[in-house]
Amino acid sequence: MTRLLLRDGIVVTQDPTIGALPRGDVLIEGDRIAAIAPSLDAEAEIIDCAGHFVLPGLINAHMHTWQTALRSVGADWTLLEYFRHVHAGLATLYEPEDIHVATLAGALNQLDHGVTTLVDWCHNNPTPAHTDAAVDALIDSGIRAAFLHGSPKPDPKPGEPHFSEVPHPRDEVERLLRGKLADRTGRVTLGMAVLGPHYSTLDVSAHDFALARELGLICSMHQGGGEAKTPGGWEILMERGLVGPSINIVHGNNLTDAQLKAFVDRGVSFSVTPEVEMAYGHGHPITGRLRALGTAPSYGVDLESAISGDMFGVARVALASQRALDNAQERARSGGIPPTSTIPAREALDWITTRGAAMLGAGDRIGSLAPGTQADVIVMSVGPLAMWPVHDPVASVVMQGSGARVRDVLVGGAFRKRDYRLLWPDIDAVRRGLAASGERILSRLNVSSISARIAAA
Ligand SMILES: [Zn+2]
Repeated sequence: MTRLLLRDGIVVTQDPTIGALPRGDVLIEGDRIAAIAPSLDAEAEIIDCAGHFVLPGLINAHMHTWQTALRSVGADWTLLEYFRHVHAGLATLYEPEDIHVATLAGALNQLDHGVTTLVDWCHNNPTPAHTDAAVDALIDSGIRAAFLHGSPKPDPKPGEPHFSEVPHPRDEVERLLRGKLADRTGRVTLGMAVLGPHYSTLDVSAHDFALARELGLICSMHQGGGEAKTPGGWEILMERGLVGPSINIVHGNNLTDAQLKAFVDRGVSFSVTPEVEMAYGHGHPITGRLRALGTAPSYGVDLESAISGDMFGVARVALASQRALDNAQERARSGGIPPTSTIPAREALDWITTRGAAMLGAGDRIGSLAPGTQADVIVMSVGPLAMWPVHDPVASVVMQGSGARVRDVLVGGAFRKRDYRLLWPDIDAVRRGLAASGERILSRLNVSSISARIAAA
């Protein structure tokens, strides 16, 4: 069994009992954490972590990894342009090899930035070959992942039904459960990325919710952006007893307070993507509204076709956006400034670690460091000046952390990045494949704004 001793790090465990150690050792045996203490002696390979944070790997709870080759193409879009250009346009041009290289590159980049668990919300899989390409890429990358199997959203061809009228394909989900994703506790597991009442008919939503429940899978869906396909759908689905802890709502900006409370009461989880929500027109992130109900969402990047994949940035945007809302409310109420911040910075580290684990129902295995948890660990340099001096380790990580300073990444005790180098055998081949895929897809899109931008680049 491999034994690694991470020595002399600033250990931020996210475990409520152990907390943070200004100087500590972490012993890894096989795929698990064996011990954490100020000082440990063990026969093990020593990894010097002096001047470095030792943290649980981050959890990116919502990303469409298949869009990695479209980096920044949607930098100036709103949700309306995104639907038109990507789902009704670019997405239809993807071959399985495009899905594979985008998912592989996106997953490797997440590892590079300290994310050890990725929730890959894959909704461009018109054929089983597309689906398998994404799953294979996640497995090959070495990241821990939940593959949420979705369905494409093209404009319907003559005689075909609109995507909102098409139930989630049971055959495909069952095929994956019999095959590559049969292991419910494996490194890559299966969930369902469904349309839900905002994007489908009531019959389709009820079918999809019941299927996910029957198969014991997470049932995740986007909520918000434009008019709902089935107004009042959520209330009917709740009456039918189909809304419970396996339901995951992404965004949720337009939900009423009464709806939010009903969801929280039923154990529904939320995933928020603050930067895309604010830029694309979804509305304000619901961080504070959930906080008022005593809970917190998980967080995700959503679209690398629009923003950075660095989850430290996601946490800071989420924190700053909610503080801005709260401060504005206080100014409107009293004309003054609140006496202190409404949300402590440490909560933002929970959002990208333990809350992501809770969304996946895996809080006992990932998201924190404690004896017995999976050894999903990252080592991040304080740097000569960037994060020095460290007065409050957790606040430092939240406010000054960066994927660029992540030195080592371990998933289940195995190095995926070491001494700032991803342990992927041929990154140049991934880079070439990603660029070729992006160019091929974008060259076939007849959208002047994109063509002009590419031509000018
Ligand atoms: Zn999304």
